[in-house]
Amino acid sequence: MQQPSWRDENLGTMKRAALWLVQVVGEGNSFTKDQLREAFPGVTQIDRRMRDLRDFGWKIDTYREDLRLEANEQRFSAMGVPVWEPGKATKKAITITAVQRRELLARDSYLCRSCGISGGQPYDDGTYETAQLDVARRQVRNPDGSTAIELVTECNRCRVGGRDVTVDLEAILGRINHLSKFERDILADWISTDKRAFSELETIWATYRTLPAASRAKVQGALND
Ligand SMILES: [Zn+2]
Repeated sequence: MQQPSWRDENLGTMKRAALWLVQVVGEGNSFTKDQLREAFPGVTQIDRRMRDLRDFGWKIDTYREDLRLEANEQRFSAMGVPVWEPGKATKKAITITAVQRRELLARDSYLCRSCGISGGQPYDDGTYETAQLDVARRQVRNPDGSTAIELVTECNRCRVGGRDVTVDLEAILGRINHLSKFERDILADWISTDKRAFSELETIWATYRTLPAASRAKVQGALND
């Protein structure tokens, strides 16, 4: 089948972005945000439309997955579904209404389920960038072998990271089966409060690690007394 040109304005933005990756960038190569915006001048949300390709199996890495990349670069690692072919772009796309989106965020306690950040909270790296929560699609493999797409709350960074992982529910259930009664009770407690309580030991350890050398030595000395 003949591939349409990425310049064909009769196509939607996501399809054109996919074709631009294939025809201009080339699989395995990197590109910058500026190059993307220059290719699609005046197209609002071009970044977002490109991210949407991940829902169709496209692998687009950022510096978080690929340490060779700069912060403004991404790499077109692998092509997914040829979304420009008739009928292909609609298969997995689940439209989410505003109400469903609100319900999902509430159910997920307004936390990114990948990194745990809350909406509006600044990232811990001094950039003053704050987290925006959005709905991501996660592929889940069920114990009966079937797979399903389930929705989960993720922040803009984790979503950009496109963790195109399949969650293996059977493996998790299997590992839970091997836990001792004691461990299962602790896990059940974390699950019921949707929060992991840190023990006194862990809290002291975390603080200890941030101490300057001289103070760390004093802590060490106090322990050895
Ligand atoms: Zn996150």
